[in-house]
Amino acid sequence: MGENMHGGGDMIDSFGRRISYVRLSVTDRCDLRCRYCMAERMVFLPKSEILTIEELIALADIFIARGVNRIRLTGGEPLVRRGIMELVRALGERIGHGLEEITLTTNGTQLEKTAAALQSAGVRRVNVSLDTRNPERFRFITRLGDLGQVLRGIAAARDAGLQVKINMVGLKGLNEDELEDMLLWCDREGHDLTLIETMPLGEVEEDRTDHYLPLDAVRGRLEQRFRLKPSFRRTGGPARYFEVEGLCARLGLITPMTRNFCEGCNRIRVAATGTVYGCLGHDQKVELRDLLRAGGPELVDRALDELLAGKPKGHDFRIAAAAPAVQRHMSVTGG
Ligand code: SAM
Ligand code: SF4
Repeated sequence: MGENMHGGGDMIDSFGRRISYVRLSVTDRCDLRCRYCMAERMVFLPKSEILTIEELIALADIFIARGVNRIRLTGGEPLVRRGIMELVRALGERIGHGLEEITLTTNGTQLEKTAAALQSAGVRRVNVSLDTRNPERFRFITRLGDLGQVLRGIAAARDAGLQVKINMVGLKGLNEDELEDMLLWCDREGHDLTLIETMPLGEVEEDRTDHYLPLDAVRGRLEQRFRLKPSFRRTGGPARYFEVEGLCARLGLITPMTRNFCEGCNRIRVAATGTVYGCLGHDQKVELRDLLRAGGPELVDRALDELLAGKPKGHDFRIAAAAPAVQRHMSVTGG
């Protein structure tokens, strides 16, 4: 694809990486308060600072015109955003017209109500975060969550024909004894499983080093029980996948701390305010909201070019560092 109608062209950064994947956060709000993600008393943004559904659609169209073929909706919790289905339906109409796929990362609390509508709007895959299948632990980690509600949501998604991938953040002393069991449960239920290392994003009450679980060690432990075969499968994200002998469930590992995944980075992240970040671990950004409101696509294109020119080579996360790598929480830019 060459120049688009605004003259923007494909998005290629200064390291030659082509940006084909956008993570679009549709809200900073959430109905849960996972301990590693948010502070207990998070202050959320006023509505006026958040892109409207129409602006989110207009922005998605600019990205699609510039070669983006995958959009993942995230948050905060995307399914608590008012008007979310309107956005999903609009993006669904673009599948086959530049867009290959829309996906969603969700905590699953609203899936029971929304799974069928997501499927009919064109969503085929969802990532659902589930760090434990123990109700008390679930309540402790999420501070507010009801495990049963999420499990019903996951079942509804599968029954609606959505492919479900479970995202589990590995937490030392909190869920590390459940990893094998979670893999076997995923296998029984027909889901894949991705394990994620905690990343130092935003201040939370806890010291993340207390629960940091390096996944390379976890892999060693899983290999004592399962035969893992590296898979060539890519889903556009940063996970490395493994086939597990004897199981249908695939295992993904997202190891930003123990193994940097930046080399093949194909994505940028949009906060619900229209701030676009070149990297999860840096503050490099451009602000698109006011440009969208005042100027339209040409100005947005120019700002995106500026973002690409300065997109960092990679992050520099260190779990033991005194302060988070960046001040914004994961809930600002989504997972
Ligand atoms: N609310 C949705 C959810 O929980 O799936 C979407 C947004 S949430 C920020 C996306 C993913 O980021 C979740 O899988 C969550 O577990 C993960 N996450 C949040 N904070 C994190 C952190 N500091 N380090 C690693 N993963 C984190
Ligand atoms: Fe909410 Fe997701 Fe963060 Fe948990 S991880 S607090 S569900 S945004």
